[in-house]
Amino acid sequence: MTTHQEAVRGAERSRTRADDRYVFHSWSAQGAIDPLPVAGGEGAWFWDEDGNRYLDFASQLVNLNLGHQHPRLVAALQAQAGRLATVGPTFANDVRGELARLIAARAPGARAGGSADANGDERRWRVFFTNGGADAVENAVRLARLHTGRAKVLAAYRSYHGNTTTAISLTGDPRRWPNEVSPDPHVRHFLGPYAYRSAFGAHDDAEEGVRALAHLREVVQLEGPGTIAAILLETIVGTNGVLIPPDGYLEGVRALCDEHGILLVTDEVMVGFGRVGEWFAVDRWGVVPDLVTFAKGVNSGYVPLGGVVIGEHVARTFDDRVFPGGLTYSGHPLACAVGVESIRTFEDDQILERVRTLGADVVGPRLREIAGRHPSVGEVRGLGFFWAVELVRDRETREPLVPFNASGPAAAPMGAVVAAIKERGVWPFVHFNRLHVAPPLVTSADDLEHGLAAIDAALDVADEQAQAVRA
Ligand code: PLP
Repeated sequence: MTTHQEAVRGAERSRTRADDRYVFHSWSAQGAIDPLPVAGGEGAWFWDEDGNRYLDFASQLVNLNLGHQHPRLVAALQAQAGRLATVGPTFANDVRGELARLIAARAPGARAGGSADANGDERRWRVFFTNGGADAVENAVRLARLHTGRAKVLAAYRSYHGNTTTAISLTGDPRRWPNEVSPDPHVRHFLGPYAYRSAFGAHDDAEEGVRALAHLREVVQLEGPGTIAAILLETIVGTNGVLIPPDGYLEGVRALCDEHGILLVTDEVMVGFGRVGEWFAVDRWGVVPDLVTFAKGVNSGYVPLGGVVIGEHVARTFDDRVFPGGLTYSGHPLACAVGVESIRTFEDDQILERVRTLGADVVGPRLREIAGRHPSVGEVRGLGFFWAVELVRDRETREPLVPFNASGPAAAPMGAVVAAIKERGVWPFVHFNRLHVAPPLVTSADDLEHGLAAIDAALDVADEQAQAVRA
């Protein structure tokens, strides 16, 4: 006799077989993948159909900031579904307006110097809602081009900005290459700061920041400052390495933009909404961009949502002129209701403070201590709940454990490390020769320790792999 649970599990298995047969998956050769069938999740944990539990050290795709099935977010979603499940973007809607107001009040510089209207509401920023990060970037560039009347946009190598035409053209990693059959023709790339592998021969962070800025200044000069609509960069580079800009760099980019009437666009899709203990990562440096893109953590991805925070001076361009952009689901009420509840939860539970404290007192120190024991760790860097462990064959030469963009057998040493982490019930985020630590911002101190201990143990495998490839 089958129990109810077995019957449910059987039904789930057949759904999984349907996935195998009918779902066309992202970024994959369809015949070469075997996605884990996930049956449920709670907080920082999820489990598969066989009941194997994983601590989600990747926050899915670094979007699940408040964890799986957060009761307040689920309740907000259910309540909104019962009230008004959808409404077109041409109508005004209370939760959409409220989320825009909450975001504008927390946008860079808003509290410091924004002008308030008669109701005391912040009017320095407006918000255009999109379905996710790529179309946020797409629309930020559209706004910048129409506002400046210029076409060109500069973006960094070692970046990811999304997978629509302009966003993937701006992307500075190998995911762009196969998409260059139909690129945006007005994108140029530059090198951002990366002190550990400095392209500028810098010896430390400060020198790297100065030299990277000089390089960018030269690129602007050579491309023609009057042809450039925007410089777009990830405030902290995410998937391409958790690269934190040295102090002074973003301030310098802001000044360079101001010199030439270029708009500064910071992509906060991955690092916004608490990942590094700030509403927006750029707040760490007190820099105020003209446009900010966001998605992911704004509502933990419970319903797809992204957007552009638009400086009032840019928004005003479209007071009398039509903004030629729009989406059927712009500001979808289900997505916005979760966004509103998410911001309230951040504040009630002091999530930003939690991330800053646990990042500085637990995650960073523990990762550095672990790194000290493992010769395969070249560098540990990060902030808040966003860290990278860069693995090398040799600490002296800094040769990566696997080559740039490795696949197949060349990537096997990283595959072995990942398998060792998963065996310990932790789901890691991995890119090239790096392990990233990006757990939900609600992960308990005990669970953080559990995940870090799994990484510690798995780094024995990395040490063995490094030794084997050196031998
Ligand atoms: N920008 C950054 C910095 C990202 O990390 C991502 C996604 O990972 C995107 C843009 C694209 O977001 P989406 O996948 O929601 O389109």
